[in-house]
Amino acid sequence: MTETTRAAIIHAAHDLRIEPCEVPAAGPHEVRVRVRAGGICGSDLHYFNHGGFGAVRLREPMVLGHEVAGEVEAVGASVTRVRPGDRVAVNPSLPCGQCRFCLLGMANHCLDMRFYGSAMRFPHVQGGFRETLVCHESQAIPADMPAGRAAFAEPLSVCLHAARQAGNLMGARVLVTGAGPIGALCAMAARHGGARDIVATDLMAAPLATIARVAADRALNLREQPDALAPYAADKGYFDVVFECSGTAAALSGALPVARPGAVIVQVGLNSGEATLPLNLLVAKEISLRGTFRFHEEFALAVDILARGAMDVTPLLTETLPLHEARRAFRLASDRNQAMKVQLAF
Ligand SMILES: [Zn+2]
Ligand SMILES: [Zn+2]
Repeated sequence: MTETTRAAIIHAAHDLRIEPCEVPAAGPHEVRVRVRAGGICGSDLHYFNHGGFGAVRLREPMVLGHEVAGEVEAVGASVTRVRPGDRVAVNPSLPCGQCRFCLLGMANHCLDMRFYGSAMRFPHVQGGFRETLVCHESQAIPADMPAGRAAFAEPLSVCLHAARQAGNLMGARVLVTGAGPIGALCAMAARHGGARDIVATDLMAAPLATIARVAADRALNLREQPDALAPYAADKGYFDVVFECSGTAAALSGALPVARPGAVIVQVGLNSGEATLPLNLLVAKEISLRGTFRFHEEFALAVDILARGAMDVTPLLTETLPLHEARRAFRLASDRNQAMKVQLAF
């Protein structure tokens, strides 16, 4: 008889159901985790609100979620890294370890990546919003802290990887465009890396108030004050580093006049995927425009930072709702005026 667990399964846009799903038997190198907390991410919201993003579309029901933490229930015979009872953060990425990019140390570009709750491949990789999950032991990272905090390891990893793309942040003047959870964690990562002055922009007051609380020295509302960045364009620009987290063409083109010659712009956000840019500024100021995609070894670093309390993410957690209220949680998480990060409790 197959064992089942309750999970949050997306069938189509706005069709999220709490249903049973199968729990596979744990293999010798696998770990069975009792999930306790799961953060709702922008990509989960894309599946919930639009059935996917870009070319990535839902083609079969899929368990959502990739920001999960809990405790180890049981381990396979060959597992050595964790024991039953250990608290763990679950790394949602499982690269193959053998392809060209894995061998180059770029496992986030693995050609055979299995990433939780992703419809990028078919059959889709089922996600972590379930009471019990079975993962490879390399994915269960000991995280001695409350599960709600440990569930921030994944989004923080994304931002630590983005910070790495930026290069040296010691003493840097940093602009963060887009003040949602990823913008806020990028600002915190920049501060952690030694940034001297952090300015954040958004079009909404609520996320700006939060980012000002956790990391930004100044939070500018560009809806109320469209010219608020103008003073930073003086003398060829002020910012050494820009984290563009809104995924909008307007934010990226608006960053070019205020980035100084030689600045690095890290494009973190991804919405339409299309942008028109004042390339003359990119060329004349020798600005580097860099992408950033997921993370790899940064996951363990994120767990370490959170466990030590070196970054306090509590102001980012808006609310925690039980699994049976998942639909309400997803609607709340979709409203940027009300919510920063919303988590499910399992
Ligand atoms: Zn995420
Ligand atoms: Zn690979």
